[in-house]
Amino acid sequence: MQYTLHLTVKDLDILLNHAETNLPLEAAALLFGQVSELSVIANRIELVHNEASSSRTSFMVNPEEQYRLLVEAEEQDEELVGIFHSHPAPPFPSSRDQHNMKLNPVVWLIASKESESWTSKAFLMEDDQVKEVGLYLT
Ligand SMILES: [Zn+2]
Repeated sequence: MQYTLHLTVKDLDILLNHAETNLPLEAAALLFGQVSELSVIANRIELVHNEASSSRTSFMVNPEEQYRLLVEAEEQDEELVGIFHSHPAPPFPSSRDQHNMKLNPVVWLIASKESESWTSKAFLMEDDQVKEVGLYLT
């Protein structure tokens, strides 16, 4: 039983551009859509400002901005299905990320730039274990 994150190539491009623009800081975005059985479908992405702008190894979303986006999503019958951020290190959740994954049990999409190109991987916390989620680009 493996979850898959469905994302358009265009949205992934926008996310990776956002990550590139924010270097050397981490960039963040929220993914909204629907979860249907094992398919997590991201219909819409919202780039967010990283509040932890002095740190290269963490990110923080402004709570008011996050709240406003969540209310907007609810009005459109969407839910928060994923959280994106970029990493200076390999695309695997850090211990801090794993703590936050327990608080925000959605898919976590992490991108990192290794040599010249970006790699993205998606994860989900299940029974206190980090599980990789398949990335299905549409
Ligand atoms: Zn991280």
